[in-house]
Amino acid sequence: STAAAAIDEPIHPSIQVDHTQLLINGQFIDAASGRTFPTVDPRTGDVIARVAEGDLEDVNRAVAAARKAFDEGPWPKMTAYERSRIMLRFADLLEKHTEEVAKLETWDNGKPYEQAAKIEIPMVVRMFRYYAGWADKIHGLTVPADGQLHVQTLHEPYGVCGLIIPWNFPLLLYSWKVGPALACGNTVVLKTAEQTPLSAIYVSKLFHEAGLPPGVLNVVSGFGPTAGAALSSHMDVNKLSFTGSTATGKIVLALAAKSNLKPVTLELGGKSPFIVCKDADVDKAVELAHSALFFNQGQCCCAGSRTLVHENVYDEFVEKAKARALKRVVGDPFKTGIEQGPQIDNEQFKKILKYIRSGIESGATLESGGEQFGSKGYYIQPTVFSNVQDDMLIAKDEIFGPVQSISKFKDLEEVVQRANASSYGLAAGVFTQNLETANTLTRALRVGTVWINCYDIFDAAVPFGGFKMSGQGREKGIYGLSSYLQVKAVVTPLKNP
Ligand code: ADP
Repeated sequence: STAAAAIDEPIHPSIQVDHTQLLINGQFIDAASGRTFPTVDPRTGDVIARVAEGDLEDVNRAVAAARKAFDEGPWPKMTAYERSRIMLRFADLLEKHTEEVAKLETWDNGKPYEQAAKIEIPMVVRMFRYYAGWADKIHGLTVPADGQLHVQTLHEPYGVCGLIIPWNFPLLLYSWKVGPALACGNTVVLKTAEQTPLSAIYVSKLFHEAGLPPGVLNVVSGFGPTAGAALSSHMDVNKLSFTGSTATGKIVLALAAKSNLKPVTLELGGKSPFIVCKDADVDKAVELAHSALFFNQGQCCCAGSRTLVHENVYDEFVEKAKARALKRVVGDPFKTGIEQGPQIDNEQFKKILKYIRSGIESGATLESGGEQFGSKGYYIQPTVFSNVQDDMLIAKDEIFGPVQSISKFKDLEEVVQRANASSYGLAAGVFTQNLETANTLTRALRVGTVWINCYDIFDAAVPFGGFKMSGQGREKGIYGLSSYLQVKAVVTPLKNP
């Protein structure tokens, strides 16, 4: 087919990878060990570039630089207005370089270029402008107390923040963490995901061009059990924020507890229900449920990965969901009009195919897809299962791939019980025209986000995070700010003693 041909002849992104070193104290440097690791093009499995492999020693150097930039300034000592202006200048520069940055992101991650350039990079720019706006609006309270006392609170930065991000939205999640951390006056050591190190290095260089002082933002590429663990257990890191799998989140939290009890924000996995009620306009519900699952190759922590459909509309829904998946445009993510590129790497590719086999073996009905797409790289056919039962592995585990699992429900009480019967609680979608149904479900669902008749809305001001084992703390918005601030109470007698 033509799509398969496009995959066999990958389009060259027509950019070069200029920066592959660690960025510590405003300087590009090699890893102390001298080691590098390959980062791979998911379209082909070919190596794009070799990147400096940061390790314990590099994390130590980066934390020392961040410590100095915090303790001696200038970052926390600058006026908040100056910090805000640097962040705004960075946002402008990033906007100017959208094309190169989006190309790097697509090359390293495999997501459609149009998605990166038209949706994600603009969201990153917006996020930095949003948090730049907060920098000079952070203040405490005047607090009533018994007696002749003046009591106030100061909202202060923690100091050095260790930020660990995954590969599915490399720059977007960079902005969710670096934005508020810096706006509050903290300094940062960022550990990128080993699958996608390139874009963060590139934009962090732009940040320095915008006037960021050395040491304020340090970027260490490298692996989780080495660089990530070193950051999590560092005695001189004052705050940790992690996005990734629930299994790794537990490790990171334990490392933080065993070292210096640094507070930890966690944004972890999910198995989010997308509930289609009996009054739904089926065509619209199908389209929304489709994008809720398949967006970003299904590699979203909040993917609507349990499609629960009322029995009255179930048969029609399944037929149309299948037809929609068969129409999904898969191909080279640099081509225009592509909806789905390759999965991130061979490990995820194999894992997803294994889940698909498990779905078939456990008796779910395979409506579409089920196999590799083409013969090269990590592409997978958009896959739809119907007749999925709650005890099947595909209904319980986070697959993180283009696999939609549809099952039937009879009434609201049942669907609430089943939706909540998960150790996860990240998000839920509700599709209904009935206000009472929407309100009932909204109150009953044990999740951090409920999207009613919409999905994947990620405005800068809207908080995001999980109930249960999907995480702790919130990112974005005013709630995200508080993750990077600690409160100091100051008590003063009104009169000299
Ligand atoms: P995924 O399955 O999405 O790769 P992970 O949770 O393993 O999820 O990865 C998310 C981030 O956590 C990556 O930057 C990864 O390198 C890092 N990481 C993995 N293992 C550890 C660990 N033991 N300690 C700290 N960070 C880790």
